[in-house]
Amino acid sequence: MSSGISQRISLWGFGGLFLLMAIDVGCAGETQVEGVSVKQEKKMVEKSEQEWRSQLTPEQFQVLRESGTERAFTGEYTDTETLGTYVCAGCDAKLFQSSHKFHSGCGWPSFYLPFEEGSITKHSDFELERERVEIRCATCGGHLGHVFEDGPPPTGLRYCINSVALKLKESPQD
Ligand SMILES: [Zn+2]
Repeated sequence: MSSGISQRISLWGFGGLFLLMAIDVGCAGETQVEGVSVKQEKKMVEKSEQEWRSQLTPEQFQVLRESGTERAFTGEYTDTETLGTYVCAGCDAKLFQSSHKFHSGCGWPSFYLPFEEGSITKHSDFELERERVEIRCATCGGHLGHVFEDGPPPTGLRYCINSVALKLKESPQD
């Protein structure tokens, strides 16, 4: 009997915690400056095929604009441990950080987290027999790679990215 009561009490405890979290979030939202939208409109990069062809190398064009895949273990950043931020090779948008990179052994640079939530977009890809989740740059729409659910903690995700779709901006802090 008594254990049933204590269970119920702990459930209430959880409920209270959620309520507190909800209040917290609500307060954070209200701290925004009145009448000013804190969320900045993201500038989208749109170019014609001709413009992309003249800007990108043939390898970059094939991956970013034609959803190609570089051969495993051939990419510049597969085993790189240099500290810095990985930006899009097409538009310079920040995509990943070296601190979220790990050695997956899959042959492509792998990250367990994107730079920020809005950095990338996810799309269903039925190119192979089983469904995969394709990853694109949210700013220019360039194809980057795929995400799989066999990554390390804390996300359990493996963002498997083509090296040619990335450029590493070295910085010792990251
Ligand atoms: Zn981009």
